[in-house]
Amino acid sequence: MQNAEYVKHFGNKAELALPPARQFAILTCMDARLDPAKYAGLAVGDAHVIRNAGGRASDDAIRSLIISHKLLGTKEWFVIHHTDCGMELFTNETIQDLLAKSLTTAIVNENGWRNVKEEGGSGEARFINFLTIKNLEASVAEDVERIRKHPLVAPTIPIYGYIYDVKSGKLIEVPAATEVGKVPN
Ligand code: ZN
Repeated sequence: MQNAEYVKHFGNKAELALPPARQFAILTCMDARLDPAKYAGLAVGDAHVIRNAGGRASDDAIRSLIISHKLLGTKEWFVIHHTDCGMELFTNETIQDLLAKSLTTAIVNENGWRNVKEEGGSGEARFINFLTIKNLEASVAEDVERIRKHPLVAPTIPIYGYIYDVKSGKLIEVPAATEVGKVPN
């Protein structure tokens, strides 16, 4: 971690307002290759960016979105999953079984995921839905729909669905997701 250089060039960011200036929020994946500020053209202070594994509409992601609108005034939301997402590479059962036997980082090859040793695991993973992804377009649509139907999400907020292409940097809309996320008549 390198913070000193950043502090040196912090500039006038102390003057930024707390609510996001461009009044929107993005829910996207934690993947290290994604730079939402850059791919969406954001300056600091512009928008909320909520990130988790897969960019999934988990209870906690929805908690943040509700706060983003109710207290901080965002008016539109974007759910952005991406190609080559790690969440497509395993199932709930896979990670639950791996964790049951060991907490050490697993390895993957053509035969799938494998523990390097088998000791010190926990069955606690059985109680976590890891929200893995089978089909990208479907996962975007499913998450937009879940957010749209949530009783604490204002019907005035349009929710758009996109897939970010890690090979080109392009954002590709998922029409079925945006359709289900539109403001109801
Ligand atoms: Zn991902």
